[in-house]
Amino acid sequence: MNFEKSQRIKRLPPYLFVELDRKKAEIQAKGVDVIDLGIGDPDLPTPDFVVEEMAGAVRNPKNHRYPSSQGSPAFRNAAASFCKKRFGLELDPDSQVCACIGSKEAIAHFPIAFVEPEDIVLVPSPGYPVYHIGTLFCGGISYFLPLKEENQFLPDLFSIPQDVAEKARIIWLNYPNNPTSACATEDFFKKVVDFAESNNIIVCHDAAYSEMCFDGYRAPSFLETPGAMDVGLEFHSLSKTYNMTGWRIGFAVGNPELVAALKQVKSNVDSGQFEAVEDAAIAALSSDQSFVKRMQDIYTRRRDVLVEGLRSLGIKAMKPRATFYVWITVPEGHTSESFSTLLLEKAGIVCTPGNGFGEPGEGYVRMALTVPEERMSEVVERLKGVL
Ligand SMILES: *Cc1c(COP(=O)(O)O)cnc(C)c1O
Repeated sequence: MNFEKSQRIKRLPPYLFVELDRKKAEIQAKGVDVIDLGIGDPDLPTPDFVVEEMAGAVRNPKNHRYPSSQGSPAFRNAAASFCKKRFGLELDPDSQVCACIGSKEAIAHFPIAFVEPEDIVLVPSPGYPVYHIGTLFCGGISYFLPLKEENQFLPDLFSIPQDVAEKARIIWLNYPNNPTSACATEDFFKKVVDFAESNNIIVCHDAAYSEMCFDGYRAPSFLETPGAMDVGLEFHSLSKTYNMTGWRIGFAVGNPELVAALKQVKSNVDSGQFEAVEDAAIAALSSDQSFVKRMQDIYTRRRDVLVEGLRSLGIKAMKPRATFYVWITVPEGHTSESFSTLLLEKAGIVCTPGNGFGEPGEGYVRMALTVPEERMSEVVERLKGVL
Protein backbone atom coordinates (compact mmCIF):
# COMPACT_ATOMS: atom_id res chain seq x y z
CA MET A 1 0.00 0.00 0.00
CA ASN A 2 1.11 3.54 -0.67
CA PHE A 3 -0.60 5.94 1.74
CA GLU A 4 0.14 9.08 -0.19
CA LYS A 5 -1.07 12.07 1.80
CA SER A 6 -3.12 14.87 0.31
CA GLN A 7 -1.63 18.22 -0.63
CA ARG A 8 -3.74 19.70 2.17
CA ILE A 9 -1.74 17.71 4.72
CA LYS A 10 1.59 17.98 2.94
CA ARG A 11 1.28 21.76 2.89
CA LEU A 12 0.83 22.01 6.67
CA PRO A 13 3.57 24.12 8.24
CA PRO A 14 6.16 22.22 10.30
CA TYR A 15 5.49 22.17 14.03
CA LEU A 16 8.01 24.75 15.21
CA PHE A 17 8.12 23.75 18.84
CA VAL A 18 9.46 20.22 18.28
CA GLU A 19 12.95 21.14 19.41
CA LEU A 20 11.71 23.11 22.41
CA ASP A 21 9.39 20.26 23.48
CA ARG A 22 12.29 17.83 23.21
CA LYS A 23 14.57 20.04 25.33
CA LYS A 24 11.82 20.53 27.90
CA ALA A 25 11.39 16.76 28.28
CA GLU A 26 15.16 16.32 28.52
CA ILE A 27 15.50 18.96 31.25
CA GLN A 28 12.50 17.60 33.17
CA ALA A 29 14.04 14.12 33.01
CA LYS A 30 17.10 15.55 34.80
CA GLY A 31 14.78 16.41 37.69
CA VAL A 32 14.62 20.19 37.06
CA ASP A 33 11.45 21.81 38.44
CA VAL A 34 10.34 23.32 35.14
CA ILE A 35 7.94 26.30 35.19
CA ASP A 36 5.82 26.17 32.05
CA LEU A 37 4.62 29.55 30.78
CA GLY A 38 4.28 28.13 27.29
CA ILE A 39 0.67 27.11 26.99
CA GLY A 40 -2.46 29.23 26.83
CA ASP A 41 -4.53 26.97 29.04
CA PRO A 42 -5.89 28.26 32.38
CA ASP A 43 -4.40 26.46 35.39
CA LEU A 44 -7.43 27.03 37.63
CA PRO A 45 -10.56 24.84 37.63
CA THR A 46 -13.97 25.48 36.10
CA PRO A 47 -16.23 27.20 38.69
CA ASP A 48 -18.23 24.83 40.93
CA PHE A 49 -21.62 26.16 39.87
CA VAL A 50 -20.87 25.16 36.27
CA VAL A 51 -19.62 21.72 37.28
CA GLU A 52 -22.75 21.24 39.43
CA GLU A 53 -25.01 22.17 36.52
CA MET A 54 -23.19 19.64 34.35
CA ALA A 55 -23.49 16.92 36.98
CA GLY A 56 -27.29 17.32 36.96
CA ALA A 57 -27.50 17.70 33.17
CA VAL A 58 -25.61 14.45 32.59
CA ARG A 59 -28.44 12.61 34.36
CA ASN A 60 -31.14 14.19 32.24
CA PRO A 61 -32.23 11.73 29.51
CA LYS A 62 -33.23 14.65 27.25
CA ASN A 63 -29.48 15.19 26.85
CA HIS A 64 -28.73 11.58 25.91
CA ARG A 65 -29.98 11.86 22.36
CA TYR A 66 -28.40 13.56 19.35
CA PRO A 67 -28.03 17.28 20.03
CA SER A 68 -28.89 19.97 17.50
CA SER A 69 -25.76 20.79 15.49
CA GLN A 70 -26.48 24.53 15.75
CA GLY A 71 -26.90 24.36 19.54
CA SER A 72 -30.07 24.05 21.62
CA PRO A 73 -32.52 26.98 21.51
CA ALA A 74 -31.78 27.57 25.21
CA PHE A 75 -28.03 27.80 24.57
CA ARG A 76 -28.48 30.15 21.61
CA ASN A 77 -30.79 32.33 23.74
CA ALA A 78 -28.22 32.45 26.53
CA ALA A 79 -25.45 33.39 24.07
CA ALA A 80 -27.62 36.16 22.56
CA SER A 81 -28.51 37.52 26.03
CA PHE A 82 -24.86 37.49 27.02
CA CYS A 83 -23.96 39.52 23.92
CA LYS A 84 -26.83 41.92 24.62
CA LYS A 85 -25.74 42.51 28.23
CA ARG A 86 -22.06 42.64 27.54
CA PHE A 87 -21.86 44.43 24.18
CA GLY A 88 -25.35 45.82 23.59
CA LEU A 89 -25.81 43.60 20.52
CA GLU A 90 -29.31 42.76 19.28
CA LEU A 91 -29.04 39.21 17.96
CA ASP A 92 -31.80 36.90 16.80
CA PRO A 93 -30.97 33.59 18.54
CA ASP A 94 -32.40 31.60 15.63
CA SER A 95 -30.65 33.21 12.69
CA GLN A 96 -27.62 34.94 14.23
CA VAL A 97 -26.17 32.44 16.71
CA CYS A 98 -24.55 29.05 16.17
CA ALA A 99 -22.98 26.91 18.90
CA CYS A 100 -19.60 25.36 18.19
CA ILE A 101 -17.46 22.61 19.67
CA GLY A 102 -14.95 25.13 20.97
CA SER A 103 -14.35 28.16 18.79
CA LYS A 104 -11.34 26.43 17.15
CA GLU A 105 -13.73 24.00 15.49
CA ALA A 106 -15.80 26.76 13.89
CA ILE A 107 -12.73 28.83 12.96
CA ALA A 108 -11.31 25.81 11.12
CA HIS A 109 -14.60 24.86 9.42
CA PHE A 110 -16.11 28.22 8.45
CA PRO A 111 -13.81 28.83 5.42
CA ILE A 112 -15.19 25.67 3.76
CA ALA A 113 -18.32 27.68 3.04
CA PHE A 114 -16.55 30.46 1.13
CA VAL A 115 -12.98 29.67 0.12
CA GLU A 116 -12.29 28.08 -3.28
CA PRO A 117 -8.87 26.67 -4.22
CA GLU A 118 -6.46 29.57 -4.93
CA ASP A 119 -8.68 32.14 -3.19
CA ILE A 120 -6.84 34.49 -0.86
CA VAL A 121 -7.48 34.75 2.88
CA LEU A 122 -5.97 37.61 4.86
CA VAL A 123 -4.29 36.21 7.96
CA PRO A 124 -2.58 38.18 10.75
CA SER A 125 0.99 37.18 11.62
CA PRO A 126 2.03 36.47 14.31
CA GLY A 127 -1.29 34.80 15.01
CA TYR A 128 -3.32 31.83 16.15
CA PRO A 129 -2.31 29.08 13.66
CA VAL A 130 -5.83 27.89 12.83
CA TYR A 131 -6.65 30.83 10.49
CA HIS A 132 -3.87 29.77 8.14
CA ILE A 133 -4.53 26.05 8.50
CA GLY A 134 -8.27 26.44 7.81
CA THR A 135 -7.26 28.29 4.63
CA LEU A 136 -4.85 25.51 3.59
CA PHE A 137 -7.53 22.87 4.13
CA CYS A 138 -9.66 24.65 1.53
CA GLY A 139 -6.77 24.92 -0.92
CA GLY A 140 -6.73 28.67 -0.34
CA ILE A 141 -3.70 30.93 -0.06
CA SER A 142 -2.94 32.92 3.08
CA TYR A 143 -1.75 36.48 2.53
CA PHE A 144 -0.09 37.34 5.83
CA LEU A 145 -0.71 40.71 7.43
CA PRO A 146 2.28 41.52 9.65
CA LEU A 147 1.36 42.84 13.10
CA LYS A 148 4.05 45.37 13.94
CA GLU A 149 4.81 47.13 17.16
CA GLU A 150 4.94 50.53 15.42
CA ASN A 151 1.27 49.98 14.39
CA GLN A 152 0.25 48.81 17.87
CA PHE A 153 0.08 45.27 16.43
CA LEU A 154 -2.88 46.17 14.21
CA PRO A 155 -2.62 45.17 10.52
CA ASP A 156 -1.99 48.00 8.09
CA LEU A 157 -4.97 47.63 5.75
CA PHE A 158 -3.62 50.30 3.39
CA SER A 159 -0.53 48.24 2.65
CA ILE A 160 -2.60 45.39 1.17
CA PRO A 161 -2.14 45.50 -2.63
CA GLN A 162 -5.38 46.14 -4.55
CA ASP A 163 -5.16 42.88 -6.55
CA VAL A 164 -4.80 40.93 -3.29
CA ALA A 165 -7.76 42.72 -1.71
CA GLU A 166 -9.85 41.94 -4.80
CA LYS A 167 -9.11 38.23 -4.59
CA ALA A 168 -9.50 37.97 -0.82
CA ARG A 169 -12.62 36.29 0.58
CA ILE A 170 -12.00 36.55 4.33
CA ILE A 171 -9.96 38.71 6.70
CA TRP A 172 -9.20 37.19 10.11
CA LEU A 173 -8.78 39.42 13.14
CA ASN A 174 -8.31 38.63 16.82
CA TYR A 175 -8.54 41.32 19.51
CA PRO A 176 -7.65 41.22 22.34
CA ASN A 177 -4.83 39.49 20.50
CA ASN A 178 -3.01 36.23 20.97
CA PRO A 179 0.03 36.33 21.07
CA THR A 180 0.76 40.09 21.26
CA SER A 181 -1.98 41.00 23.82
CA ALA A 182 -2.77 44.11 21.72
CA CYS A 183 -6.30 45.56 21.82
CA ALA A 184 -8.21 47.06 18.89
CA THR A 185 -9.56 50.60 18.84
CA GLU A 186 -13.07 51.52 17.66
CA ASP A 187 -11.43 53.55 14.95
CA PHE A 188 -9.53 50.51 13.66
CA PHE A 189 -12.72 48.43 13.58
CA LYS A 190 -14.42 51.22 11.56
CA LYS A 191 -11.60 51.08 9.03
CA VAL A 192 -12.02 47.31 8.83
CA VAL A 193 -15.73 47.69 8.02
CA ASP A 194 -14.95 50.21 5.25
CA PHE A 195 -12.21 47.97 3.86
CA ALA A 196 -14.48 44.91 3.91
CA GLU A 197 -17.40 46.73 2.27
CA SER A 198 -15.32 48.22 -0.51
CA ASN A 199 -13.62 44.91 -1.33
CA ASN A 200 -16.47 42.49 -0.60
CA ILE A 201 -14.48 40.64 2.09
CA ILE A 202 -15.96 38.72 5.02
CA VAL A 203 -14.63 39.81 8.41
CA CYS A 204 -14.07 36.97 10.86
CA HIS A 205 -13.29 38.26 14.32
CA ASP A 206 -11.96 35.86 16.95
CA ALA A 207 -13.05 37.23 20.34
CA ALA A 208 -11.66 34.41 22.51
CA TYR A 209 -10.19 36.92 25.00
CA SER A 210 -12.99 39.50 25.12
CA GLU A 211 -13.62 38.86 28.83
CA MET A 212 -10.03 38.58 29.97
CA CYS A 213 -9.46 42.31 30.54
CA PHE A 214 -7.65 44.22 33.28
CA ASP A 215 -7.46 47.68 34.87
CA GLY A 216 -11.11 48.40 34.06
CA TYR A 217 -10.62 47.93 30.31
CA ARG A 218 -13.63 46.46 28.46
CA ALA A 219 -12.85 44.91 25.08
CA PRO A 220 -15.43 45.80 22.42
CA SER A 221 -17.14 43.31 20.15
CA PHE A 222 -16.32 43.92 16.47
CA LEU A 223 -20.09 43.71 15.89
CA GLU A 224 -20.62 46.92 17.90
CA THR A 225 -19.02 48.82 15.01
CA PRO A 226 -21.56 50.52 12.70
CA GLY A 227 -21.98 48.36 9.58
CA ALA A 228 -20.17 45.35 11.09
CA MET A 229 -23.29 43.18 11.09
CA ASP A 230 -23.36 43.47 7.26
CA VAL A 231 -19.85 42.06 6.86
CA GLY A 232 -18.91 40.08 9.94
CA LEU A 233 -18.98 36.93 11.97
CA GLU A 234 -17.55 36.82 15.50
CA PHE A 235 -16.27 33.73 17.30
CA HIS A 236 -16.72 33.52 21.07
CA SER A 237 -15.33 30.92 23.42
CA LEU A 238 -16.07 29.90 27.00
CA SER A 239 -12.65 28.24 27.23
CA LYS A 240 -10.47 30.99 28.64
CA THR A 241 -13.22 33.04 30.32
CA TYR A 242 -14.57 30.26 32.56
CA ASN A 243 -11.55 27.90 32.66
CA MET A 244 -13.43 25.51 30.38
CA THR A 245 -10.85 24.61 27.72
CA GLY A 246 -11.56 20.91 28.21
CA TRP A 247 -15.32 21.26 27.75
CA ARG A 248 -15.26 22.36 24.08
CA ILE A 249 -17.96 24.97 23.85
CA GLY A 250 -18.19 28.31 22.10
CA PHE A 251 -20.47 30.15 19.69
CA ALA A 252 -20.39 32.24 16.53
CA VAL A 253 -22.59 35.31 16.10
CA GLY A 254 -23.18 37.93 13.44
CA ASN A 255 -24.51 38.31 9.93
CA PRO A 256 -27.40 35.85 9.35
CA GLU A 257 -26.11 34.66 5.95
CA LEU A 258 -22.68 33.93 7.41
CA VAL A 259 -24.18 32.17 10.42
CA ALA A 260 -26.39 30.09 8.10
CA ALA A 261 -23.34 29.13 6.03
CA LEU A 262 -21.46 28.01 9.14
CA LYS A 263 -24.49 25.95 10.22
CA GLN A 264 -24.63 24.38 6.78
CA VAL A 265 -21.00 23.24 7.00
CA LYS A 266 -21.33 22.05 10.58
CA SER A 267 -24.54 20.11 10.07
CA ASN A 268 -22.60 18.06 7.52
CA VAL A 269 -19.52 17.35 9.62
CA ASP A 270 -20.67 17.15 13.22
CA SER A 271 -23.83 16.63 15.21
CA GLY A 272 -23.25 19.35 17.76
CA GLN A 273 -21.92 19.39 21.30
CA PHE A 274 -23.34 17.21 24.12
CA GLU A 275 -26.34 19.19 25.36
CA ALA A 276 -25.29 18.67 28.97
CA VAL A 277 -22.20 20.75 28.15
CA GLU A 278 -24.48 23.39 26.64
CA ASP A 279 -26.60 23.40 29.81
CA ALA A 280 -23.46 23.96 31.87
CA ALA A 281 -22.38 26.71 29.47
CA ILE A 282 -25.78 28.41 29.89
CA ALA A 283 -25.10 28.53 33.65
CA ALA A 284 -21.74 30.23 32.98
CA LEU A 285 -23.07 32.74 30.42
CA SER A 286 -26.11 33.73 32.47
CA SER A 287 -24.26 34.00 35.80
CA ASP A 288 -23.53 37.38 37.39
CA GLN A 289 -19.95 37.18 36.00
CA SER A 290 -18.41 37.68 39.46
CA PHE A 291 -16.31 34.59 38.72
CA VAL A 292 -14.83 36.38 35.70
CA LYS A 293 -14.00 39.39 37.88
CA ARG A 294 -12.18 37.12 40.36
CA MET A 295 -10.15 35.59 37.56
CA GLN A 296 -9.30 39.04 36.20
CA ASP A 297 -7.96 40.01 39.65
CA ILE A 298 -5.82 36.88 39.85
CA TYR A 299 -4.31 37.44 36.39
CA THR A 300 -3.73 41.11 37.16
CA ARG A 301 -1.60 40.23 40.21
CA ARG A 302 0.38 37.61 38.28
CA ARG A 303 0.87 40.05 35.42
CA ASP A 304 2.18 42.77 37.71
CA VAL A 305 4.68 40.42 39.36
CA LEU A 306 5.99 39.24 35.99
CA VAL A 307 6.04 42.54 34.08
CA GLU A 308 7.52 44.54 36.95
CA GLY A 309 10.11 41.81 37.51
CA LEU A 310 11.07 41.76 33.82
CA ARG A 311 11.28 45.53 33.67
CA SER A 312 13.48 45.67 36.77
CA LEU A 313 15.89 43.44 34.84
CA GLY A 314 15.90 45.78 31.86
CA ILE A 315 13.68 43.55 29.72
CA LYS A 316 11.10 45.29 27.52
CA ALA A 317 7.66 43.77 28.07
CA MET A 318 4.20 45.05 27.20
CA LYS A 319 1.86 45.27 30.19
CA PRO A 320 -1.26 43.64 28.76
CA ARG A 321 -4.66 45.31 29.23
CA ALA A 322 -6.20 42.03 28.13
CA THR A 323 -5.40 38.32 27.44
CA PHE A 324 -3.24 36.23 29.74
CA TYR A 325 -0.09 36.69 27.65
CA VAL A 326 2.93 38.91 28.12
CA TRP A 327 4.70 39.73 24.83
CA ILE A 328 8.35 40.29 25.51
CA THR A 329 11.06 41.83 23.34
CA VAL A 330 14.13 39.59 23.47
CA PRO A 331 17.32 41.30 24.68
CA GLU A 332 19.96 42.57 22.20
CA GLY A 333 21.93 39.81 20.58
CA HIS A 334 19.19 37.20 20.96
CA THR A 335 16.61 35.64 18.64
CA SER A 336 13.25 34.27 19.80
CA GLU A 337 14.75 30.79 19.66
CA SER A 338 18.04 31.53 21.43
CA PHE A 339 16.33 33.48 24.22
CA SER A 340 13.72 30.79 24.90
CA THR A 341 16.46 28.13 24.85
CA LEU A 342 18.51 30.17 27.34
CA LEU A 343 15.53 30.52 29.70
CA LEU A 344 14.81 26.82 29.51
CA GLU A 345 18.37 25.59 29.93
CA LYS A 346 19.57 28.10 32.53
CA ALA A 347 16.37 28.84 34.45
CA GLY A 348 14.01 25.94 33.76
CA ILE A 349 11.41 28.34 32.36
CA VAL A 350 9.35 27.44 29.30
CA CYS A 351 8.10 30.28 27.11
CA THR A 352 6.99 30.34 23.49
CA PRO A 353 9.32 31.76 20.80
CA GLY A 354 7.42 34.51 18.95
CA ASN A 355 8.44 33.29 15.48
CA GLY A 356 6.43 30.12 16.14
CA PHE A 357 3.33 32.28 15.52
CA GLY A 358 4.72 33.56 12.22
CA GLU A 359 7.89 35.21 10.97
CA PRO A 360 6.92 38.76 12.11
CA GLY A 361 6.90 37.38 15.68
CA GLU A 362 10.70 37.00 15.49
CA GLY A 363 12.40 39.04 18.19
CA TYR A 364 9.72 38.29 20.79
CA VAL A 365 8.76 35.55 23.21
CA ARG A 366 5.35 34.97 24.79
CA MET A 367 4.82 34.10 28.44
CA ALA A 368 1.42 32.94 29.67
CA LEU A 369 0.10 34.00 33.08
CA THR A 370 -0.94 30.44 33.87
CA VAL A 371 0.98 29.74 37.09
CA PRO A 372 0.20 30.98 40.64
CA GLU A 373 1.59 34.29 41.90
CA GLU A 374 4.27 32.58 44.06
CA ARG A 375 5.52 30.68 41.01
CA MET A 376 5.57 33.94 39.07
CA SER A 377 7.82 35.44 41.78
CA GLU A 378 10.00 32.34 41.43
CA VAL A 379 10.19 33.02 37.67
CA VAL A 380 11.48 36.53 38.39
CA GLU A 381 14.00 35.21 40.93
CA ARG A 382 15.33 32.66 38.46
CA LEU A 383 15.59 35.31 35.72
CA LYS A 384 17.72 37.45 38.03
CA GLY A 385 20.20 34.59 38.09
CA VAL A 386 20.47 34.43 34.29
CA LEU A 387 20.07 37.96 32.95
C1 LIG B 1 -7.59 29.52 22.83
C2 LIG B 1 -7.92 30.24 21.57
C3 LIG B 1 -9.02 29.86 20.79
C4 LIG B 1 -9.73 28.52 20.91
O1 LIG B 1 -10.53 28.35 21.89
P1 LIG B 1 -11.51 27.12 21.98
O2 LIG B 1 -12.83 27.78 22.13
O3 LIG B 1 -11.05 26.38 23.18
O4 LIG B 1 -11.43 26.30 20.74
C5 LIG B 1 -9.35 30.61 19.69
N1 LIG B 1 -8.62 31.68 19.35
C6 LIG B 1 -7.56 32.07 20.05
C7 LIG B 1 -6.81 33.26 19.60
C8 LIG B 1 -7.16 31.35 21.17
O5 LIG B 1 -6.07 31.72 21.82
